[in-house]
Amino acid sequence: MTQDHPPARQLLLCSWLITSAAETPRPNQAVLIEGDRIADIGEIEAMQMRYRDAVLTDLRGCAISPGFVDAHRHCYGVLAHGIPTENAPADFWAFLNEFWWGKIEDRLDHDMLRAAMDLSCYDMIRSGITTFFDCLEAPNAIPGGLFVQAEVVARWGLRGVLCFEATERVSRENGELGLRENVEFIEACRGSNVVSRLLGGAMCHHTTFTCSDDFIRKAHDLARQLGALLHFHCSEGTYEPEQALKKYGRRTIEHYDDLGILDETTLASQCVQLSPDEVRIVGERGIRVTTMPLSNCEVGGGIAPVPEMRRAGATVGLGTDGYVANFFASLRGAFLIHKARLLDPGAMPARDVWQMATADGARALAMDDIIGTLAAGKQADLIAIDLDLPTPVTAHNLLDQLILWRDAVDVHSVMVAGRWLKRDYLVLNADFEALVAGTREAAARLWGRA
Ligand SMILES: [Zn+2]
Repeated sequence: MTQDHPPARQLLLCSWLITSAAETPRPNQAVLIEGDRIADIGEIEAMQMRYRDAVLTDLRGCAISPGFVDAHRHCYGVLAHGIPTENAPADFWAFLNEFWWGKIEDRLDHDMLRAAMDLSCYDMIRSGITTFFDCLEAPNAIPGGLFVQAEVVARWGLRGVLCFEATERVSRENGELGLRENVEFIEACRGSNVVSRLLGGAMCHHTTFTCSDDFIRKAHDLARQLGALLHFHCSEGTYEPEQALKKYGRRTIEHYDDLGILDETTLASQCVQLSPDEVRIVGERGIRVTTMPLSNCEVGGGIAPVPEMRRAGATVGLGTDGYVANFFASLRGAFLIHKARLLDPGAMPARDVWQMATADGARALAMDDIIGTLAAGKQADLIAIDLDLPTPVTAHNLLDQLILWRDAVDVHSVMVAGRWLKRDYLVLNADFEALVAGTREAAARLWGRA
């Protein structure tokens, strides 16, 4: 669904360039791309003189930024959007045990995963996401669930980290099968072109309330051996720390620390209900965290102490959870929710939000050596956002303007590894009607069986 052969040398012109949220945006810049990488950045006039042979794309009227990193998503979740929950139990454990697990996760099959990933890729490209982390929760779709999803992602040309959430809640054997799915996928991504060089894997277990200590240690050891991340959902609401206190006499993060698994492999998503002591541990261990402000609201989980974790030294990436999947909604959620919680309009400046959405998302996924900022040598993963705004755009207000008053429809173009996936507001080679029809059919089967 991408351009088959992108030109060897491309020169993009823009009105504003955000190389990184940590740097002041620069006006009237050009970006030279050679193959899949950025080769040079500079003033438009000088760059046009220097690179006369490059294929020109004039994006003046737009800001170019590193592409968004959706650092936590469940693409299968699109099939459950709007599913009737009025008869589902309100209590967290009963909701999982009597509704979500049995009626959604356990019933997912390969065709459903394929349809959900297809629409999700379209949707991500549309809203400017160039890299995403997906956590598949479907114990009866293994072996092979990750490979089915990967084929779809490779076809669209997005950059993705895919993992399977191994859990012992079904059985120990199913848990082991989940770990093996991750090992095989990580090795396939590294070993060859079985999937795509844009794809990678991660180790993953569910939580302290569905996995034994032995199982968690095993997942961690496998991640270390493979040099991969270990992802887990952590204290998404009050349930997990309460259970950990009852079972171990300490809270979730304290328990993980006791197990000795908080290190360079750790990618803890959610981290909503943390005590000040847990925030300190998260910072001291320098672990990777992802935050999903809107889905935390949906499940009544609370508001994660994101400014506190960042101050303590954690890397925090921003995700959608695949819930309100438009990334601009997550940007606005992250921008506003901490101001309200801390009664402080300065609690979360626009540059911090943009940083979480790009460079820190890349760091959270251990990919900051190749993506997250725009500089010579980095992968050409970037987006152009239309700046047709009713008020002046300045270096000082650019990020605020983009977060608050732009949306997926304003994303003019999207490039991953030097290939255009969206141009002139159109996702390339996408048959939207067919994608929606495929998702509707899969959702009807899922809901029908539910
Ligand atoms: Zn999640």
